[in-house]
Amino acid sequence: MINFEKLIDEHLRRELKEKKVGVYYPSEIGSCIRKVWFTYKKPKEPDKDKIKIFQVGLMLHDFIADVLRSEKTQQVRLVDSEVPFRLVLPNFTISGRVDDIMIVEANGKKILVEVKSTKSLKMINEPQDAHVKQLQMYMHALKIPNGMIVYIEKSSLKTIEFEVEYDKEQVKDIMKRFETLHDHLVMNKIPEPEAKLNPNKNWMCKYCEYREECEGNSL
Ligand code: SF4
Repeated sequence: MINFEKLIDEHLRRELKEKKVGVYYPSEIGSCIRKVWFTYKKPKEPDKDKIKIFQVGLMLHDFIADVLRSEKTQQVRLVDSEVPFRLVLPNFTISGRVDDIMIVEANGKKILVEVKSTKSLKMINEPQDAHVKQLQMYMHALKIPNGMIVYIEKSSLKTIEFEVEYDKEQVKDIMKRFETLHDHLVMNKIPEPEAKLNPNKNWMCKYCEYREECEGNSL
């Protein structure tokens, strides 16, 4: 018998990649800063189930790109679905993982579209803060002030979208977050348990692979 689960696991298996202090990613800056700090200091093998969820996200991203490319959807044009991104700052570099962002043109206007897959659309009344932060960074770097976050339900392909305008103040806050992360990494000092301390973010702890290490370092 062929064990397809095993085949999929083997196909998706990834090597543990150590991250370099000084190179940061927009996709992570909305997460708990302490958790991101741990991913640099104590990298772990990527979890099999998380890799699969990530893969589904990529597949749905490709599906939306196909929809936008289609001759049947002439009202929009896909300009680019693999947007290079690198922001070199005096102390560090912000480098984009461009797997869920695309540039679309509609009514003569360029829009940066971030696609996120989700189990259910029911509870989504507004875009997640972490997703907005990621999009703001891309809008800043690519100088495209119009953005949109699209949530697509995995089981039904239903979608809901939210417009996001470029916000200079929010980008300043995001930059401060990168600086906080960088400073704590360079000083080898653990950041405060941000998610645990914030009622709007403490749901993140449930999915965090560093819960144990975090507990052992309570501030
Ligand atoms: S357990 Fe919560 S507070 Fe601690 S690192 Fe993870 S997300 Fe952050």
